[in-house]
Amino acid sequence: MEIKQLIETLYKEHILKKEEFLFLLEHRNEESRSMLASLARTQTDKIYGKSVFPRGLIEFTNYCKNNCYYCGIRGANQNAVRYRLSKDQILSACENGFHLGYRSFVLQGGEDPFFDDEHMCDIVSEIRHRYPECAITLSLGERSKESYEKLFKSGADRYLLRHETACPDLYKKLHPESMSLEHRKQCLWNLKEIGYVVGTGFMVGAPYQTLENLVDDLLFIEKLQPEMVGIGPFVPHHDTIFKDEPAGTVELTTYLISILRLMNPHFLLPATTALGTIDPRGREKGIEAGANVVMPNLSPVAVRKDYSLYDNKICTGEEAAECAGCLGRRMNSVGAFLDFCRGDYR
Ligand code: SF4
Repeated sequence: MEIKQLIETLYKEHILKKEEFLFLLEHRNEESRSMLASLARTQTDKIYGKSVFPRGLIEFTNYCKNNCYYCGIRGANQNAVRYRLSKDQILSACENGFHLGYRSFVLQGGEDPFFDDEHMCDIVSEIRHRYPECAITLSLGERSKESYEKLFKSGADRYLLRHETACPDLYKKLHPESMSLEHRKQCLWNLKEIGYVVGTGFMVGAPYQTLENLVDDLLFIEKLQPEMVGIGPFVPHHDTIFKDEPAGTVELTTYLISILRLMNPHFLLPATTALGTIDPRGREKGIEAGANVVMPNLSPVAVRKDYSLYDNKICTGEEAAECAGCLGRRMNSVGAFLDFCRGDYR
């Protein structure tokens, strides 16, 4: 196999066979990286131009009933300082974001039973009522199909639920018995069926992960056909069993962003905060590799450091306005700009 040829095939046909994807990952080098990134950027520019869409992220609860082994806010971590934002605090974060220009909000939280359907639908419908022109994205983990339907009817448009890994064996090594990959996948299919704009994604460089596992992730995404794909490097958290494991790399994460861009030029692909955490220019590198979304934090500064999924998370000290200013300059440094529209899938 010839790596250049494989990249050209991916560019033209948007898919490769399993063994071809694996070859592309195993034999990556400086040349294949720059060829992939340049084609990926060309594709992004064709569909979205130089726009990078900011999503105002509101991390409204760090309570979680789950115990994903890699996560700093998993339910069993007694050292996590827990918080829940009130409805008023959430609405005031939206108001602040709206005045700063945001037209897309993401409500993200652990799987917190306190925020049952009644609570969530009340919050979502109030945001919908106040900001009819804004996109509302939810990231609340696994819920019943009925619950997803109610939230959709209340006004939510988009849902983010990373599958984290499409390999059942690896999934078991990263999650307790009580969690199942099949159930997570079913949730994603349910979300699609209801009509949400759906985002999934996976960790790069997770403990025990192989390149074959990453190929499984790409093939699952090809099957699911989501509109958004969020991938970020694994970053260890000091209160987890993986605290001494090495983090994923910017190099492999951005390589995969470029591959995803060639698989579907229309994808909404974030340059994640985790990428910015392991490299000061991580998000800029993500944009150069073909990403076109960033997720600045709109949560109140007082609670930001407590939404600690992993160590050394960036941007926990700045006000929302400072975040937007800093990110805007970062995007300009790579020839892109923050485009404060809803940032719909085109
Ligand atoms: S990764 Fe999400 S679902 Fe898992 S423990 Fe952390 S917050 Fe909960």
